[in-house]
Amino acid sequence: MTTSIQDGFCRTIGNTPLIRLKHLSEATGCDILGKAEFLNPGGSVKDRAALGLIEDAEARGLLKPGGTVVEGTAGNTGIGLTLVANAKGYKTIIVIPDNQSREKIDLLRAMGAEVRPVPPAPYREEGNYNKVAARLAESLPGAFWANQFDNTANADIHYRTTGPEIWAQTGGEVTHFVAAIGTGGTLNGTSRFLKEKNPAITTVCADPYGASMWSWFTRGDLEIDDGDSIAEGIGQGRVTKNVEGTPVDEAYRVPDRLLIEIVYHLLRDEGLFLGTSCGINVAGAVKAALAAGKGQKVVTILCDGAQRYLSRLFNEDWLRENDLTPQNWSLDRILEETDKIGK
Ligand code: PMP
Repeated sequence: MTTSIQDGFCRTIGNTPLIRLKHLSEATGCDILGKAEFLNPGGSVKDRAALGLIEDAEARGLLKPGGTVVEGTAGNTGIGLTLVANAKGYKTIIVIPDNQSREKIDLLRAMGAEVRPVPPAPYREEGNYNKVAARLAESLPGAFWANQFDNTANADIHYRTTGPEIWAQTGGEVTHFVAAIGTGGTLNGTSRFLKEKNPAITTVCADPYGASMWSWFTRGDLEIDDGDSIAEGIGQGRVTKNVEGTPVDEAYRVPDRLLIEIVYHLLRDEGLFLGTSCGINVAGAVKAALAAGKGQKVVTILCDGAQRYLSRLFNEDWLRENDLTPQNWSLDRILEETDKIGK
């Protein structure tokens, strides 16, 4: 993170530090490095996508002064878009499934977005929140639909920023890049950049259960999407435009039990208070390190902080009901269980 004066919110997005995860690095004999995306000004990796989508729309003349940014989103993208839009003088309308938590809706409203809750509907139906957002943008003069899943300005900003930052921060010595997929923007853009720099870099998709990206990258179909996960912001069931063309060498499915033990380990032993997708990503990074042997430099994404998940991830009753009460696994146990995934 740069310490000089930056010109406003938008210019403080990105340039996040790489944090060496001390215990997992020592235990694997590798550098396990987390890109601290939770330090972005809106609190997540999605600030980058929000900036990329909005600045691309400006450049293409789709968003003009006084315009409105419209998006269907339940999470971090809505926060990023709202704050970037505020900083640039646009309005924001967020369409959100009405089964989302009250906190999320309240948070977006507090930040200045107009929030329109709609009944939940699957992607194939016209009532799906993404489709509602698309139609709304079409019907409103001066409105632009951000379309984070299929607008490749999302992956492009990772190609232009996340990839080059990781390359420079590791002095070109990164050996692996690992990320889970929500839209696919992070994994696609970053992997494409790193592979162009050095085709020997191994790129890895870490997938939660209940998604089909593992199936897509290991088997070439979307047939396996069984199970379920508590991870938020990730878990994709279709090949979005931002997933298309992602160079992926390995993919691993990460169980929620491992996610929980890793999130609690990172908090307890590293002082890092991180959200659910970080557990999936770090598990994937450790697995890639174990598979490749000592001496690797494995980079993954620490997507957001845990503040947004207090009512679940740090709620004893909720954890018990979901059979996910942390068991405080030792480092050895974490490594042993991580080694088993993908087998
Ligand atoms: N983690 C969290 C917490 C997220 O909000 C997202 C974005 N939906 C991701 C990971 C995945 O990023 P991407 O959309 O670039 O695949």
